[in-house]
Amino acid sequence: MKLEAEIEKITGIGPKLQKRLKKLGIKTVKDLLLHFPHRYEDFSNLIKVCQIKEGENFSAKGWILEIKNWQTWKKRMNLTEAIFGDETGTIKIVWFNQPFLKKILKKGDFVCLAGKLVRDEYGIYVSNPYFEKISPFKDLIHTARLIPIYPETEGVTSKWLRSKIREVLLKLKGKIEDPLPKEIRKEYKLLPVEEAFWQVHFPDSLKSAKRAKERFAFEELFLIQLFVLKERIKLAKEKAIKIPIDLNSIKEFVEKLPFKLTDAQRKASWQILKDMEKERPMNRLLEGDVGSGKTIVAMIAALNVAKSGFQVAFMAPTEILARQHFENFLNFLKGFNLKIGLLTSEDVRLNGEKLKKKEILKMIEDGEVEILIGTHSLIQKDVKFKNLAFVIVDEQHRFGVEQRAKLLQNANFKLENVKIPHLLSMTATPIPRTLALTIYGDLDLSILDQMPKGKRKVKTMLISPKEKERAYEFIKKEIKKGGKVFVICPRIEPDKELGLTEQKAVKKEYQKLKEIFPEFKIGMLHGKMKSKEKEEVMEKFKKGEIEILVSTSVVEVGVDIPKATLMIVEGAERFGLAQLHQFRGRIGRSGEKAYFLLFTESSAKKTRERLKALLESESGFELAEKDLKIRGPGQFFGSKQWGIPDLAMSSLTNVFLVEKTKEAAKKILEKDFELKNYPLLREKLENFKREIHLE
Ligand code: ADP
Ligand code: MG
Repeated sequence: MKLEAEIEKITGIGPKLQKRLKKLGIKTVKDLLLHFPHRYEDFSNLIKVCQIKEGENFSAKGWILEIKNWQTWKKRMNLTEAIFGDETGTIKIVWFNQPFLKKILKKGDFVCLAGKLVRDEYGIYVSNPYFEKISPFKDLIHTARLIPIYPETEGVTSKWLRSKIREVLLKLKGKIEDPLPKEIRKEYKLLPVEEAFWQVHFPDSLKSAKRAKERFAFEELFLIQLFVLKERIKLAKEKAIKIPIDLNSIKEFVEKLPFKLTDAQRKASWQILKDMEKERPMNRLLEGDVGSGKTIVAMIAALNVAKSGFQVAFMAPTEILARQHFENFLNFLKGFNLKIGLLTSEDVRLNGEKLKKKEILKMIEDGEVEILIGTHSLIQKDVKFKNLAFVIVDEQHRFGVEQRAKLLQNANFKLENVKIPHLLSMTATPIPRTLALTIYGDLDLSILDQMPKGKRKVKTMLISPKEKERAYEFIKKEIKKGGKVFVICPRIEPDKELGLTEQKAVKKEYQKLKEIFPEFKIGMLHGKMKSKEKEEVMEKFKKGEIEILVSTSVVEVGVDIPKATLMIVEGAERFGLAQLHQFRGRIGRSGEKAYFLLFTESSAKKTRERLKALLESESGFELAEKDLKIRGPGQFFGSKQWGIPDLAMSSLTNVFLVEKTKEAAKKILEKDFELKNYPLLREKLENFKREIHLE
């Protein structure tokens, strides 16, 4: 058996279990071993029956002397009652609603018991204890130690997980290779991988469990650091085209703008222009709240590059955004005599004129299209640039690096020595500094921490379920005034397994609102719809053919609906502050007064306090820092968004660990940049690169 083997290779795991395990994210043997306990229960106090004290956790070895099932008369509860004893005495055990236990445990069985003695209407007894039969060939794993409690799902209990994990670890004895180099392990006093697995699942003490977990966190962070550092060093060796700053054009552009640039915009533009004057490829992230005006900054840089005779590619995540950028570019760059193209799977244009795809492809290859805006279509094989010098990637977090690589594969450079375009990635996800330094360690950062003046008056309110009626009145009023309304729900459909009646789900809310407002046009949007359907709905909303849009968090990405003046967030406690702040950025964009209403079912004080931060702060960065403190980075970003393992995520706030892993990565790369002597590490790094997604 190998670590990478599919989980069904383990004996006893059939299709049914496989499906259940998948729910926990367990697909391979390795996933099973990496399914870490979220806590431990301490039953290490192994004593004799006569020493058992009320209210204290204990374990004891002894015999089942009697066992019987019966039903309580009043509550119709199934009780399994047993007498347990050793040479020092006997004690009563009661299990509630597990009548099958009588089939498993027989009179005379020699078992180890782990539980607590309680006293109530049924007498003095051990309530629902764990137990396991004692055999000379098996260690105790469910009793008489710190026992691991795992995240569970239906049909996969902690007890089952314990047994399986132990079985697998025994089978893999001596066969788990350690990806961490020996010298690193030694220097940083890290447990060897196999021992760490044992100590995470079956620890000798809480301290050693912690130490074991830290070892895995170290490994994940170390990989990220290796990746980031390698990229940085690789890039430093590459060359890019030097782009001189054309001050005249830029001045003209800025003067023609219908507004004044913010200082932050000026500073960021200057940093970018300065970067591109150099031969070293720019690798910069432009971070700024929704509405902080990132596009204009990108436009200034694009104008400068186009004016110096090179091509610009601008990639947006969706069709609508690409079109929106295209229209903005045409509009603001009017009078500069530039050829600006749009290339998506739906639409091909040049300066407002429709073209065939073939036609524009040829013009791109000939270098005639100076600024090309589009979706992922830009990185398809048939798109070849003549002299691409600058790539802009919008709302793509760190993975612009990979996209640049893809664009490069196709770039048909005529210039010698020139290999790589400058890269500007843009994101509205506010990333606290500590995180940025790690995940974005290979990028330079420009931050737009100022909002354009006189914009956006959004009033934020926290609303209790009782005031719902008022919110409906609000909806009516806004739509009558010509406003558009967002209703955000945390789920697509109610989750049957959760069994709650009050779960806010898009499909349910959509039906409900249709009944309440037969006079309005209502639309629905969620992640399970095809991307084309989604875009159609957004387009309709933009045009006003939909007045109320019920949606999940998919609206987060930067679409501009100027008339949206009201947003209602259902189950607001289910979202992070930074995410809610992003939602808020979707409304009031035309400068009209807008309302952001947060509904929460939770009456917990903590929840309300957390949400109140939104009433007090307008800064995405401040909110992100707060969120990070309250919820930790794993929750904060949702690791899925990044493709970064949970464990690494949750260690990112550990500044010591971040620093240590950075240092370790440097040491290894200085010695062996290609990792020739560390094949396992190299393989892991390749996998990691593949896992951090390209989307
Ligand atoms: P984001 O950073 O969210 O991508 P955009 O670049 O889309 O923001 O800008 C949002 C809106 O603000 C656009 O309509 C843009 O024209 C406008 N804008 C940009 N900069 C300024 C400014 N300095 N003053 C006023 N409005 C601005
Ligand atoms: Mg934007």
